[in-house]
Amino acid sequence: MGLKLPIPVREDAFSKPMPLPMPLPLPLPKPPNMNGACKLPCVPLEEVTLEDLQKISTLGCGSSGKVYKVKHVKTGKIYALKIIQEKHELAVRKQIMREMEILRRANSPHIVQCYGIFDRGGEISFVLEYMDGGTLAQVLQAHKKIPEHYLAEVARQVLKGLLYLHQNKIVHRDIKPSNLLINKRREVKIADFGVSTVLAHTLAQCNSFVGTCAYMSPERFDPDGYGGKYDGCSADIWSLGLSLLECALGRFPCLSPGQRPDWPTLMVAICLGDPPSPPPDASPEFQSFIRCCLQKDALLRHTAHGLLLHPFLKKYEQRSCDLSPLLQSLHL
Ligand code: ATP
Ligand code: MG
Repeated sequence: MGLKLPIPVREDAFSKPMPLPMPLPLPLPKPPNMNGACKLPCVPLEEVTLEDLQKISTLGCGSSGKVYKVKHVKTGKIYALKIIQEKHELAVRKQIMREMEILRRANSPHIVQCYGIFDRGGEISFVLEYMDGGTLAQVLQAHKKIPEHYLAEVARQVLKGLLYLHQNKIVHRDIKPSNLLINKRREVKIADFGVSTVLAHTLAQCNSFVGTCAYMSPERFDPDGYGGKYDGCSADIWSLGLSLLECALGRFPCLSPGQRPDWPTLMVAICLGDPPSPPPDASPEFQSFIRCCLQKDALLRHTAHGLLLHPFLKKYEQRSCDLSPLLQSLHL
């Protein structure tokens, strides 16, 4: 067939040391995704205050809190309101606020917009762009597996979001299907960065932390085993590759069916095992794309920029990229 698929090479940008995920020091380390002050310009957004919002329904619950569908009483506009239920100590709250300020300034069609962050008596809430198509995790649950041509479109949009973040020297650190949101305008956007990692400090002892670490790259899972340093941008690429592979396989790729996703099992699978393989019946382009993301050696992983030029995305470029058939069976 003579297909020329790229072999893993990597652009050596944004190498930055990251703090160890465990044990978890307090006071919290400076956020690793920014050098000093946030460089993103502060884009003026519509003013939204908590008092103007009326709860309509619950959209979902995560490890850190609840997300509600809310309506702005004056404008009628719909938002998602994420409330971190547990009241955290001041140091944690301050870091959440700092990191969320980055999200508030992020302005890309592929990042869920944040319209306001509030700390009321220790309870933190975020007013977010409402994504009416749900999460990639919900789509996967409804469809069991997601065909390749949809995955190419999801990958293209998420990579554009990651490129924007990485070019602004921001790493996401929690790419996973439940943080990739879809709307009926066929847009896929990245949600939830910073917060989940900050909260992982307080969740480390709970099972919910496992959900956050399952998509971590080997060097993030075990920084000591990989020289104590890692590049957060290439760690995001691993997490994206794993999320897409999960959608293609219809199950979490690192574990066999029935295996418990606890910390030691994940550690062995992610750090000691071979990287998970794409399904043998997948196209050579998709197989190559996944291999470019799931290199255990972070230096060999492709960048967001490189992956946007990958033949897998080119292959489906001409095809209709309408994601709406995926959303039809969801009851949102
Ligand atoms: P975890 O806490 O492990 O990261 P999670 O990402 O599912 O899991 P949350 O970020 O709290 O947790 O989100 C809970 C649910 O709320 C999501 O799964 C999704 O269904 C819904 N949700 C979150 N943000 C939005 C949004 N901006 N628009 C619409 N629905 C949303
Ligand atoms: Mg989330």
